[in-house]
Amino acid sequence: MSDEPRDPPGPSTLSVHGGEPAIRAGRSITEPVVFASTFPFADTAELHAFMQRELERPEEYGRYGNPTVAAVAARLAALEGGGDPAQTGVEAVLMASGMAAITTTLLAMLRAGQHVVFTADVYRKTRLFARSYLDKFGVEFDIVEPSLAAIEAALRDETRIIFTEAPTNPYLRVVDLEGVVALARGRRIKTIVDATFATPINMRPLSLGVDLVVHSTTKYLGGHNDLLGGVVLGKAGIVGAIREQVGTLGAVCDPHNAFLLGRGLKTLGLRVERHNHSALALARMLEAHPKIARVWYPLLESHEDHAHARALLRGGGGVISFEVVGGLATGTRLVDALRIPKLAPSLGGVESLVEQPALMSFYDQGPEGRAALGIREGLIRYAVGIEDLEDLEADLRAALDQV
Ligand SMILES: *Cc1c(COP(=O)(O)O)cnc(C)c1O
Repeated sequence: MSDEPRDPPGPSTLSVHGGEPAIRAGRSITEPVVFASTFPFADTAELHAFMQRELERPEEYGRYGNPTVAAVAARLAALEGGGDPAQTGVEAVLMASGMAAITTTLLAMLRAGQHVVFTADVYRKTRLFARSYLDKFGVEFDIVEPSLAAIEAALRDETRIIFTEAPTNPYLRVVDLEGVVALARGRRIKTIVDATFATPINMRPLSLGVDLVVHSTTKYLGGHNDLLGGVVLGKAGIVGAIREQVGTLGAVCDPHNAFLLGRGLKTLGLRVERHNHSALALARMLEAHPKIARVWYPLLESHEDHAHARALLRGGGGVISFEVVGGLATGTRLVDALRIPKLAPSLGGVESLVEQPALMSFYDQGPEGRAALGIREGLIRYAVGIEDLEDLEADLRAALDQV
């Protein structure tokens, strides 16, 4: 082993220290939280220098920048970019929610006459945004199976974006991202991956040549079910254009939110390792259980995208989808018999959560709508938290005994 410091450092080191200054304001070890909506100039001469771009000062007014938000964005850029942002050229823009990150990014990048390919199984509200806004602004789109053949078949001369998600919700599909990047190359198409379910611990799409990564920081990155947020990351040029639009569209991340995110981020590596380990163990246990009809988890050999998952993911993440023998009604009895996970939407936090998509996230679609979207009535989504695996396993076995 050499005595040189490892360069770049590993993901947990970057989660704690990425992009930080040598000394912070007040010599604080943590990021000071600057609650301010505006940032005064010393005098007109300083203002003039700022306006002439002779003075580098990122803060002017809260919608355009805040030092706490910028510091957390730099740390996320280091983590997702896999090293010092000054070297990788990766930047991050934090936003008010995952949906704000997705919609602001698409609005910033698209104009009338262009075309987008989305893969099916992307977040439901992302698809709703396509239907209710892109149409309205004259942008056409197709939603296709997450396979290279289907994506390629949907490409047109006007296609400017391929938007995909990996792994997806609720079936944890994993598309061949290297193949997607190869399709986009030479075609003036930008690739965007919603990597919320993967986190930079399990996968770094930018290293595969993907142009932009978005995350709902509400999930694993925040990790404590106490904030809503989103982020978009990529090379400085393209991210700069999106940042400009945040100043106009206004879906900014506030300093308190950024502080919570920055705090959660420090334990991301530890938490995701636990999520990965516990979820894989529970998925295997479920798969072997006589009352379980089917389990979806990317690192199970039975998953249809297992090969891509093995190639792309360091771990399978915390979400397991499964069906109990007997369908919706039996599933409901199981959900109600579970003692540890709370019945709630969301995932990626320290608390385990469980839901039946037919009764929650896809309830308003009705049985026909769900069938059309491929959402099976008996499906249960279990977002495994960081509780002790032995307790989660015992709880699940006890609940299964009761149904
Ligand atoms: C939750 C989620 C979103 C939306 O994020 P919000 O922070 O709730 O706006 C987008 N994509 C995926 C994959 C998600 O899980």
